[in-house]
Amino acid sequence: MAKNAEIARALKELALLVEIEGKEKYAARAYKRAVRSITSLGEDIEAVANREELESIPGIGKGISKKIRRYLETGSIPLLERLRARIPVKVMVLDSIPGVGPKTIALLYHELGVTDLDSLEKAARDGKIALLKGMGKKTETQIIEGIDLVRSGLDRTLLADAMSVVETIRQKIQNVDGVNQVVIAGSYRRRRETVGDLDFLVDADDPELVMEAFSTLDNVQDVLVKGPTKTAVRLKSSLQMDLRVIPTESFGAGLQYFTGSVDHNVRLRGIARSMGLKLNEYGLYRDEELVAGEREEDIYESLGLAWITPELRENHGEIDAVKNGTLPHLVKLDDIRGDLHSHTDQSDGSNTIEEMLDAAAEREHEYFCVSDHTQSLTIANGMDEERLLERIEEIDTLNTSGKWDMMILKGAEVDILADGTLDITDDVLAQLDVVTVSVHSRMKDSKKVMTERVCTALENKHVHLLGHPTGRLIGKRAEFEIDLEPVFEVAKKNQVAMELNANPYRLDLNPGNLRAAINMDLKIAINTDAHKVSELDYMKFGIFQARRGWITKSDVLNTMALKDLQKWLKK
Ligand SMILES: [Zn+2]
Ligand SMILES: [Zn+2]
Repeated sequence: MAKNAEIARALKELALLVEIEGKEKYAARAYKRAVRSITSLGEDIEAVANREELESIPGIGKGISKKIRRYLETGSIPLLERLRARIPVKVMVLDSIPGVGPKTIALLYHELGVTDLDSLEKAARDGKIALLKGMGKKTETQIIEGIDLVRSGLDRTLLADAMSVVETIRQKIQNVDGVNQVVIAGSYRRRRETVGDLDFLVDADDPELVMEAFSTLDNVQDVLVKGPTKTAVRLKSSLQMDLRVIPTESFGAGLQYFTGSVDHNVRLRGIARSMGLKLNEYGLYRDEELVAGEREEDIYESLGLAWITPELRENHGEIDAVKNGTLPHLVKLDDIRGDLHSHTDQSDGSNTIEEMLDAAAEREHEYFCVSDHTQSLTIANGMDEERLLERIEEIDTLNTSGKWDMMILKGAEVDILADGTLDITDDVLAQLDVVTVSVHSRMKDSKKVMTERVCTALENKHVHLLGHPTGRLIGKRAEFEIDLEPVFEVAKKNQVAMELNANPYRLDLNPGNLRAAINMDLKIAINTDAHKVSELDYMKFGIFQARRGWITKSDVLNTMALKDLQKWLKK
C-alpha cells in the first residue's frame, strides 16, 4: 500500500495550496475529504485503480480520480506542479507546526512573505507575527516552540510510516535473482520511534543486479550514489535509503556494525581489544585471521557474550546484563491476550462497537475493552453517566449474545479534571470493568500542579490505568511537565497500572520511563487506543517500544489470562 501514503500526501499539499490561494474553497474541502478516505482505505489504491473502482471510494469523484490515475502513471499531478510554481510556500512543513494551519500560512505568506521554516522563524523572532491581526504574542511564542519541535523531527520519519514502504522494498530486493538475504539495519532494526536514513544490507551473488533493481524502484526520486557495492537513493516521500552489498563471510559483522547503536558498538570494540581481537564492519579478527564474520551470533559468542536483541543495543546496561546472565526475556506480540483501550463511534472513533469487536476477534483476543471518552471531552462527544450506563447494558447484552468468542470488558477513558477529580461519579465507575484515566486538557499546567493533579486522580479507588501518562505526540507535541516518581509511588500504593500507548505518535511511556516503572514493580498495559479498526494493528509498535524498555511478559497486564486479569481488576 506504498502508493496510498504518497497520493494522500500529494492531495493534502494540493488542498493546502488551493486554500492558500483562496480561490476555490470548495475544492480544498473536497481534496481533504479524499485524503481522509485514502488514509483509512484498507487496501492498495493501485489495485482499486486497476479495477477502475476509484470512484467507489467515498469522497473521490471524477476529477480527483483522474488526478490519482495521473499520479499513478507519471508520479505527479499537473495542477499540483502549477500551484507549486505559483505559490512558492513549503506548505507541508509549515502545516506540521502545532497551531499553524492553512489560514495562518496564507496570512503569513501574504502579509510577511513567509515561505519556509527559516523565514517563519525570522518573522517570529523579529516580533512581526504578534503584530498581525488575530495573532498576538502568545501565538508567536507557540510558533517558535513549534518550529523547534518540527526541526528536531524533520530528517526523521516515524517508524510506522517508514515500515510499510520499506518492507515492500525489502521484498522486491529479496526477489532479485541471486539474493540470499536482505536486512534493514540501523535504528530501523533497533525499532526506534523514528528512523533517519535506512540501511539495507544485502548478501547477493550478483551485486550489479541488486544495484540496478534498487536504483530503478518506481518510488525513487533521485539516485544519490551508484557504485559497485553501495547505492543511495531518495524516495518521493523524501526518505533516504542506502543499500550495501556485503560479502557472505562478512555479512554478520556488517549487520552488527550497521545496526549500532554507536555506543553499543564502542563497548563491543573495547571488549574485543581487551581480548586481543579487532572488530570492524568486515569481521572479528585475531591479527589477520578472521575469527567470526558470517553470522552476527558468532561475533557476540566469540566475545564471550550471548546474542543481544537489536532493541536493547543502546548501551543502557545490556552488555553487563548479558555477562551476568540477567538479560530479560522480552515480551512478544504473541504474549498479548487482549487490548484494554479502544474507542467507537460513541465518542471520537470511526467504527461501531460491533465492527471493533469483529476486528478484535479476528486478532484472536481473549478479551477486549471498549473505553470511550467521557463528558468533559466535548470535542470527542464524550459520554455522560446516562450514556455510560446504557453502554454498560449494551455490553452485557453483547456478551450474552455469544457472537464473539471473547470477553467484552466495560471501560471508559475518563477525563482527569483540573483539580484531579474525575468527570464521572464513583457509583458509575464502580460498574465498569476497566477505568482508564487520562489528561486531555490543561497540558500546560506547571510540573507541580500536573503531578498533584494526576496523583489525586490515581487515589480514586475505582481507577485501574493511567492512559498515555506524559501526553506527548512525537514530532508534534512535547511531553507535558510531570514528575513521574511520585506518580509511580501513588500508582503502586493504589494498584494502578501504567499504560504504554501503542499509537506510533504516542509510544507513551518512553523506554526510560518504562524501565523506571517496572523497577517499582508497576504493571504495564500495552494498549492500541484504536480509534478505528485498522489501528488495532498498532499493537506491534507497542511491543517494539516495550522491548526497548526491557519489559517482560510478566510485567504486562494484558498478557494475563482473563481470569487472572479479572482478579487483578477487582484489586
Ligand atoms: Zn486519550
Ligand atoms: Zn483513548
